[in-house]
Amino acid sequence: MNKLELQSKIYRFDNDDNLYFVSIILVDGDSIVDFFYYATSLTELKDSLENNGKYFILTCWCGVPDCAGIEQGIQVTHYQNTVTWTITQPKPHRIFTFYADDYKTIITEGIAKIKQDLANLCLTKTGEKNDKLEIVPRWEDDIPLIKLLDISTKNF
Ligand SMILES: [Zn+2]
Repeated sequence: MNKLELQSKIYRFDNDDNLYFVSIILVDGDSIVDFFYYATSLTELKDSLENNGKYFILTCWCGVPDCAGIEQGIQVTHYQNTVTWTITQPKPHRIFTFYADDYKTIITEGIAKIKQDLANLCLTKTGEKNDKLEIVPRWEDDIPLIKLLDISTKNF
């Protein structure tokens, strides 16, 4: 069985002073892609908890999978007490299998933790809004993500 982890990280770049809030997926301790380039769709990840299907769990920083060359989502297959991910894009082709119970717990608790991390970051220590914070992928038009993370323009 593979071990899944979901975490939030802050990325910075030399050419601006923004704080980029990025959710990253690790399997067996390693990032599954370069999250300086790809992003995690938490809504697709949440949607994959119940049903089989293809989910664009990996996407571009702008929120459009195509933009990062991803035309096929991750195939998620629930079978007995396991959940299998078949990743074809981005390469390499990979198959990961998780215990179904762990899958549900890790994603549910991971999203709750990310929501908390974000709430803590939205305000600076002096109680002002943190206008340097950018959520990745782009969230402004993403109503399901806004609901999932309980964010809105009033926080920014
Ligand atoms: Zn893009």
